Amino acid sequence: MKKKACEEIGIRSIGVDLPAHITQEDLMARVRALDADDSIHGVLVQLPLPPHIDEQSVLNCISQAKDVDGLHPLNVANLAYTKTNAPGKSAWSFDSLDFHVSCTPQGCIELLDRSGIVIEGKNAVVLGRSNIVGVPVALLLMQRNATVTIAHSRTQNVEEVIKRADIVVAAVGRAEMVQGSWLKPGCVVIDVGINSMDDTSKPTGYRLVGDVHYESCAEVASMITPVPGGVGPMTIAMLMRNTVNGARRQLLLKEPTIK
Ligand code: NAP
Repeated sequence: MKKKACEEIGIRSIGVDLPAHITQEDLMARVRALDADDSIHGVLVQLPLPPHIDEQSVLNCISQAKDVDGLHPLNVANLAYTKTNAPGKSAWSFDSLDFHVSCTPQGCIELLDRSGIVIEGKNAVVLGRSNIVGVPVALLLMQRNATVTIAHSRTQNVEEVIKRADIVVAAVGRAEMVQGSWLKPGCVVIDVGINSMDDTSKPTGYRLVGDVHYESCAEVASMITPVPGGVGPMTIAMLMRNTVNGARRQLLLKEPTIK
């Protein structure tokens, strides 16, 4: 899907498929070589990697400027330190940032913005605290002036916590965990989860479901994202945005006259 999106908008994408038994050193050398190539403006390592590989060391081979996935420690640090609602702008402009915000959290905010949801002053509950989704989406919501609660596997009475939320972001990796009866009527639900569930009626033998029980939650929420078709495609769109913005920044640095 990522390659297809690149094709659609005119980004030249190169897929490098390597054998699963590749060594840590060889893999890191391949990623470093791509990162050093001036004709490449963004590098993404498709996770997860095989168990014998240390993922973070591989990710660290991508420079901050080309880390279009937004997982480089400096991009994460910038997200924590920088107010991502650009001062003086009503819209959330990533052209005004000089670092990459990770794609799925960015996509969650984009979905809210494009649906006309006012984030400021709202109670937002983020279910899940992973570095890839939960924590960065909570930071983004806080920077947009929501009051944010992060719930996780040790949270007590999670249903009651979610019941207070005007905005629920579910990123737990547990199929259809959030039920309609847990929601505050009229709330907005962003379902990040992608889980496969056995389904003999499908040719594949499974279907994809989110972390939210869609049917019951759609009856209570004012807006809800579907799975598949909600956060997933928006994540890819944000990857395209990061790549284009990153390329523009890199070209501007080299050629200050390019507009
Ligand atoms: P993860 O790293 O496994 O983190 C899951 C989080 O959920 C953890 O913080 C965990 O708490 C919490 N959790 C687990 N069980 C819980 C429970 N019963 N009650 C409350 N919290 C619970 O997962 P992830 O990478 O964030 O991904 C989450 C989901 O999003 C997955 O389904 C993944 O496939 C999907 N995803 C989708 C996209 C997309 O583009 N749409 C992108 C990334 C991920 P602890 O920290 O206490 O263990």
